[in-house]
Amino acid sequence: MPLLEVERLNAFYGKAQVLRDVSIAVDEGEAVAVLGPNGAGKTTLLNSICGLVRADGRIVFDGRDISALKPHERIKLGIAISPEGRRLFPEMSVEDNLLIAGDSNKLDFVYNIFPNLKEKRKQKAKNLSGGEQQMIAIARALMLEPRLLLLDEPSMGLAPIVVENIAERIETIKEELGISILLVEQNTQMAFDVADRFYILASGQIVREGTIEEMEEIEQEYFG
Ligand code: ATP
Repeated sequence: MPLLEVERLNAFYGKAQVLRDVSIAVDEGEAVAVLGPNGAGKTTLLNSICGLVRADGRIVFDGRDISALKPHERIKLGIAISPEGRRLFPEMSVEDNLLIAGDSNKLDFVYNIFPNLKEKRKQKAKNLSGGEQQMIAIARALMLEPRLLLLDEPSMGLAPIVVENIAERIETIKEELGISILLVEQNTQMAFDVADRFYILASGQIVREGTIEEMEEIEQEYFG
């Protein structure tokens, strides 16, 4: 049984349909990437899974239909998101950004994955590098001790070497903590580094899916 099952999701902004019959699944312990160009509907998909956007269709988590649940109820069941654009509080310290999501007794667990954030915990978030700010956003989601971590374009605006570093942390989160990952990306590098399987979302529809090995074969066709 998959940990997450999204079945025939349709989402609209006014009359504009941005998701069309989207069905995806994430197994326990698996990392899955949804790839697609700007405006394909990737953020809308993640936001509908965590209940921030209304969508028609069924979302099943750990065997339970969560489609009608409020965002905070979905968080309680174990779904956390690192949102598009990171959404940090730039004037607050690194640690205070983390404490927005969870109690101080969770800090050690999170600093274990991101020791560099522990070193900089008293600094204002805005004074950290782009890569470190992305780590704060992921660390903040981990403070919720999720079973499923949703990552909205973690590579956004980062140099390839920094993307690699973040990909390593995501691998650790998956391998050592056993947290399942659903990641949306425009950039294929992050997907190659962390994902077991992929889907391609184009104009609101899933047009391809497969294992990450199969993605190498079609990369030219879709991503040039
Ligand atoms: P990006 O990489 O730009 O975030 P995306 O694949 O995540 O792209 P979405 O952000 O889900 O795509 O947007 C899908 C479509 O819906 C786009 O055409 C976008 O302009 C539109 N859209 C997104 N949010 C809204 C909104 N709040 N109101 C109206 N239209 C929206």
